[in-house]
Amino acid sequence: MSVELQHAPVGGPPMVPSRHRVVAVTRELADTVTFELEPIDRALDPPEPGQFNMVYAFGQGEVPISVSGDPARGDTVVHTVRSVGATTQALCALGPGEVVGLRGPYGRGWDVERARGRDVVVIGGGIGFAPLRPIIYRILEDRQAYGRVNVLVGARSPETLLYRAELEEWRSRSDLSVEVTVDRAGPDWRGDVGVVTALITRATIDPAGTVAFLCGPEIMMRFAANTLTGRGVSPGDIEVSLERNMKCAVAQCGHCQLGPIFVCREGPVGTWERLQPLLAVRGL
Ligand SMILES: Cc1cc2nc3c(=O)[nH]c(=O)nc-3n(C[C@H](O)[C@H](O)[C@H](O)COP(=O)(O)OP(=O)(O)OC[C@H]3O[C@@H](n4cnc5c(N)ncnc54)[C@H](O)[C@@H]3O)c2cc1C
Repeated sequence: MSVELQHAPVGGPPMVPSRHRVVAVTRELADTVTFELEPIDRALDPPEPGQFNMVYAFGQGEVPISVSGDPARGDTVVHTVRSVGATTQALCALGPGEVVGLRGPYGRGWDVERARGRDVVVIGGGIGFAPLRPIIYRILEDRQAYGRVNVLVGARSPETLLYRAELEEWRSRSDLSVEVTVDRAGPDWRGDVGVVTALITRATIDPAGTVAFLCGPEIMMRFAANTLTGRGVSPGDIEVSLERNMKCAVAQCGHCQLGPIFVCREGPVGTWERLQPLLAVRGL
């Protein structure tokens, strides 16, 4: 699609998208695609792990999508998108050379800094592993600054396991522990079957010295956080990323409001200590 937009000046209004061209497309799964995007007129600020951009499929709609690439690679922006509705379907149909609008990065991401000198547990479920991937890149850039790193991943089936080749590569490293489980195995699956909480139960964790980062379906994060606190990890040391309906992404429209917070601005990442009481209120 050819798009003629008047682009925003550098440092321009936050609601104006900056045109980006698709330079690479990787089909991850039947319904999931990773894009690498380069700026046409104006580069966005570098994202922190866990932040998101509003991605505009011209003529279709705009949706929040987390950054899934290496934060140290500032020249391009990487997003992994699962097709669930009209806009994400349009995004997943884009090919190299096509153009989308990006604005961001928005929100509060993972506090990877505070994990320095401590053990890290990264727990992802389904597409929720995409916003967690930048944490692993960030840690690997300065691996000796962190203690034991456990990566625990759950998927519905082997066919829906995101970044499978990269997980294999990480699994072969001696300085990462990578465990994967699926709800339903096929005949070729040799790994674990069951929920991700089972992986937490058997992981080697020093509760007082651990920071945990969780992203996936809310029910999965609730069970995972409860299992971690049951093992002695403090709720203040567990960070979760919330998914809410977001339209403006700058705390104006109120679509993403969760009690006293706007998830687009105060989140999407917050500690379990802060968010669990809000999630426990029916109807919020
Ligand atoms: C902060 C944040 C970060 C996000 N990061 C990513 C990301 O990295 N990758 C990604 O693929 N998605 C991500 N999402 C989810 C993404 O924004 C939605 O999938 C998208 O808004 C759906 O828009 P749509 O127009 O395609 O579908 P809609 O027309 O809005 O929805 C179509 C149908 O799909 C359902 N639906 C909507 N969202 C989801 C969902 N996430 N899972 C399952 N069903 C859904 C709706 O209830 C509806 O029934 C993120 C959301 C937030 C809030």
